[in-house]
Amino acid sequence: MFKKIAGILIITFIIAASLYLLLEKKSIENQSAKSTAQSEKLDIAVSIYPLAYFTEKVGGDFVTIHLITPGGTEPHDYAPTPIDIITVESSRALVYNGAGVDAWADHVAPDLRKKGIPVLKMIDYLSGVSKESVDPHIWLDLILVKRQVENIVQLLTDLDPNHESIYKNNAAVYLGELSKLDDDYKNGLVNCRLKEIVSAHDAFAYLGSRYDFTIHPIAGISPEDEPSAAQLAALTELIRQKHIQTIFFENFVSPKLSETLARETKAKVAVLNPIEGLTSEESDAGKNYDILMRENLEALKKAMLCT
Ligand SMILES: [Zn+2]
Repeated sequence: MFKKIAGILIITFIIAASLYLLLEKKSIENQSAKSTAQSEKLDIAVSIYPLAYFTEKVGGDFVTIHLITPGGTEPHDYAPTPIDIITVESSRALVYNGAGVDAWADHVAPDLRKKGIPVLKMIDYLSGVSKESVDPHIWLDLILVKRQVENIVQLLTDLDPNHESIYKNNAAVYLGELSKLDDDYKNGLVNCRLKEIVSAHDAFAYLGSRYDFTIHPIAGISPEDEPSAAQLAALTELIRQKHIQTIFFENFVSPKLSETLARETKAKVAVLNPIEGLTSEESDAGKNYDILMRENLEALKKAMLCT
């Protein structure tokens, strides 16, 4: 008898809980439908920080950015959570970089396209960069960034033609700032006694080829690709030979190898930021892509003895 009553109670509880969850879900759905209608903002999912920053620059008040790689996380090896995937699938578009820094997005993209959600894989839309390129660090080349901004204007205008003039104006202002930054890089790095740097991972090849200096990375394209003992020995020899005086490290990679190389070659260590994401300290200090690019310029001028 007791067992029977307990069984009935359990079944009643399960039905009540299911009903409650169903109603709760409905009310959340109603709320979100309401808020979309009210704000008229475009929800855009973006894989990595620099693309989120550029999209925000163009979209301004008319976009809500959902950055998938969390702040303070190194993106090369980030795996999205189920909630990330739901966020992407409920957005109006996905903007991602390609060439492996956000490899998860390659797996999600076909499904999104099937559902009619536009996907902008940036590296596929940059003339001068091969679709087969294995170097994803296109956000560190200011000329390539300008093209990225233009692609974002196109995407937002396709999604929301009513605000085309706003997106174009926002982009024009930002493209002007990027031109100024590009000029400062050109002028700042033209007169340097050294034309070579040692970086923590292989993030600066586009930047180096744009402003004509050579990068010797300690790790590979991903910070996870650590060097062998022989590679480290060769790098130590090269630092001595070329009289390189600064060994760079970066925020998401352990500085151990940079410090060891610096100690062995009596060089200094300094930060060169690949701007793959913002740490909480950087966000708290109000830093952003543009500010970090300027800090990088100052660091490069010092390391390459530019006047
Ligand atoms: Zn990288």
